[in-house]
Amino acid sequence: MSTVPSPLAPYASCDTRSKGRQYAEDGPRYRSEYQRDRDRIVHSTAFRRLVYKTQVFVNHEGDLFRTRLTHSIEVAQIARTIARALRLNETLCEAICLAHDLGHTPFGHAGQDALNACMRDYGGFEHNLQSLRVVDELEERYAAFPGLNLTFETREGILKHCSLNNARKLGELGERFIQRRQPTLEAQIANLADEIAYNNHDLDDGLRAGLITIDELKQLAIFKRQYDVVTATYPALNGRRLTHEIIRRMIAFVVTDLIETTAAQLQAASPADVEAVRSAPAPLVKFSEPVQAEHKELKRYLLEHVYRHYRVLRMTNKADAVVSSLFQTFFSRPELLPTEHQQIVTQMEASAGDIGRARAVADYIAGMTDRYAIVEHERIFDPAKRS
Ligand code: MG
Repeated sequence: MSTVPSPLAPYASCDTRSKGRQYAEDGPRYRSEYQRDRDRIVHSTAFRRLVYKTQVFVNHEGDLFRTRLTHSIEVAQIARTIARALRLNETLCEAICLAHDLGHTPFGHAGQDALNACMRDYGGFEHNLQSLRVVDELEERYAAFPGLNLTFETREGILKHCSLNNARKLGELGERFIQRRQPTLEAQIANLADEIAYNNHDLDDGLRAGLITIDELKQLAIFKRQYDVVTATYPALNGRRLTHEIIRRMIAFVVTDLIETTAAQLQAASPADVEAVRSAPAPLVKFSEPVQAEHKELKRYLLEHVYRHYRVLRMTNKADAVVSSLFQTFFSRPELLPTEHQQIVTQMEASAGDIGRARAVADYIAGMTDRYAIVEHERIFDPAKRS
């Protein structure tokens, strides 16, 4: 195979046609604009925190489970393969994937649901929107602007979902939710690469944790197909190597389907440029119908047998209690916050009242790692713990 990179397709995002950054900057000398975005994301504080944030299993349950950091890296490598195969912008895809979970609370979805409930009267809490808030406002690194000042295309990709209410406050970035337009193909890939990554690694983690077994998984078509191939080729294989041989083939199977289905879609629609991609009635990046059905079946299975397993629910119950009590305490008594965060609460309350106060507390909690949240909870509620 040739190692010379093929030129980008006409409908690929290209940084010379970027909608640019919120604050004008000189262009980078030896990097593309999207490389600069990716590098800023990798250098951010929020990115380093991902290593101590839960995907499904709380960090201290075991060192081998995925965290938000390893999840984000897995998403990026899946997305890069797809982008490259379709002659799309691999670097933009990577930047979006590495940033897509920066706004996640501690304790995964349980933490997000708890914080959203606490914020019900103050505008709610959406982790996609929080990821955008991290890169637009909360990171403190550059003299000339708040946040990371990323390009429009990376920010657009980070904002995967958004309520209409919030979309109306976001200007150009929110317009596509109101007008039902599509994001770039790179953003569409990042979205599905996220699903491919978690479906497969949560299956792997679920097996590792003993919540599900290979025997039970054989009822799923998407698993059984690769199980049959692996056991026919290596009849004596068992344990971790059997699991991994099946899962790596499952990933390859759905990635191949996604590339081939999307290539056919692109050929049929032949969008002239990114604007044509944005105006398309539906996303052009997709699985074939049968694989989409199998992918969904696996998702449902994981929901029932992993995410709602009593051992995971016990953990999410604790997460809910930690996040909710931290929020209630800091919201009613901001003087218990570290000085720096008290000042932020005071400023945001001065401009937006209770809504500002609640948002400042939510930002503080959302930024916590799992273990920091647990320690902070102990410092507030455990009389034996130093404050
Ligand atoms: Mg994700």
